[in-house]
Amino acid sequence: MKYYIETYGCQMNVSDSELIISILNDAGYEQASDIDTADILLFNTCSVREHAEQRVLGRISNERHRKKSKPELKIALLGCMAQRIGERLISEDLGIDYAVGVDQYRALPHLLEQAQGSLLKFNSYENYEHLLPVHQGENCAFVTIMRGCDNYCSYCIVPYVRGRERSRPYEDILLDVRAAVARNMMDVTLLGQNVNSYHWKDLSFPALLVRLQEDVPELYRLRFVTSHPKDLSDELVQVMGKGGKLCEHIHLPMQSGSNESLKRMNRSYSYEQYLNRVKALRKAVPGIGITTDLIAGFPGETQEQFEATLSAMREIEFDYAFCFKYSEREGTAAAQYPDQLPEAIRLSRLQKMIDLQREITLRKFRAKIGKEVEVYVEGFSKKSKSQVSGKTRDFKIAVLTGDESKIGTLVKVKVSQATAGTLICE
Ligand code: SF4
Repeated sequence: MKYYIETYGCQMNVSDSELIISILNDAGYEQASDIDTADILLFNTCSVREHAEQRVLGRISNERHRKKSKPELKIALLGCMAQRIGERLISEDLGIDYAVGVDQYRALPHLLEQAQGSLLKFNSYENYEHLLPVHQGENCAFVTIMRGCDNYCSYCIVPYVRGRERSRPYEDILLDVRAAVARNMMDVTLLGQNVNSYHWKDLSFPALLVRLQEDVPELYRLRFVTSHPKDLSDELVQVMGKGGKLCEHIHLPMQSGSNESLKRMNRSYSYEQYLNRVKALRKAVPGIGITTDLIAGFPGETQEQFEATLSAMREIEFDYAFCFKYSEREGTAAAQYPDQLPEAIRLSRLQKMIDLQREITLRKFRAKIGKEVEVYVEGFSKKSKSQVSGKTRDFKIAVLTGDESKIGTLVKVKVSQATAGTLICE
């Protein structure tokens, strides 16, 4: 039997798909590279925004026609959306045969032997111990170090669809990183909803970073995502300050620059505390790239509170910000807030954020002109086969002249031009 898997949403889902591939391959299934040859279509889904869910339903509706010419074809919904509304979706006539939640992938091969069904129970001990995902990337690997989240930010669906926080054993992480390196994936990103609270036996997150660098000396680069500002310890800042394989970049979601909004978001830090972490990082790691997530139009956000976010953006000068308009998710605390803002306000605030960040990013990228940067070349550039592209240590996309022989190597180049998203290097 051949399966075809499509993945939506964040890196965590990409990583889960790699785990699912491993489970299915071990059970004797074969991965199809072409949807036309598949007997089972798997959709690993995201619930973070309404739009993401609608997109998957659109895709399934486009693909279910295949059942007419191939009645034995099965469609499975996996991941966060399955966890949230899988039961209901199976009962509707959408062509979905199976729904499997994030803690039940081990039982997927068994379920696929049935004609239809769902597996949606949470299991807060499921860490997929002793399972090695089949990394699908070419030069970069994402390695899960923990699952779930205990933070309950008021806008976020994740704790409801991914369950309680738990850390993966060090031995499994080490095997996973070594397997990636053995396949020439020399840039590894450790993944978790809140990596700073990683804890396995007496191993903390900063200690994990130190140990991995010692235990996998072949690795070129080590990164991690996502950090929660409230758990970003001085010890982590110190470890980052030592550099080594650990890259000079952190993704540190701020979400808002207004203390009132942060409180209503249940983020457990004030803007001043956030700024304190940014200052500590910049002191310990000169030139560190700091990226963030921001929400525009959170319920009850006044014009003044929105302006506080713009002013925080100007003060901190993030290298890049992923800006989103607030999207209410059924079942979260913020979706119950009575003061939801009209879509037009959310959109206009989002646009202002994007415009401001674009200016800042352009300025920061231009400041790199004339400087030498190290690029890990990951592939050909999107525009031309005579150019290759990759990332700098501080997480900026760089394009340079080169051919296939450069792919997978580290090169030192000089930045000659910059746009608000790319460094052009010589
Ligand atoms: S830390 Fe907050 S935003 Fe991140 S996954 Fe957990 S609840 Fe969601």
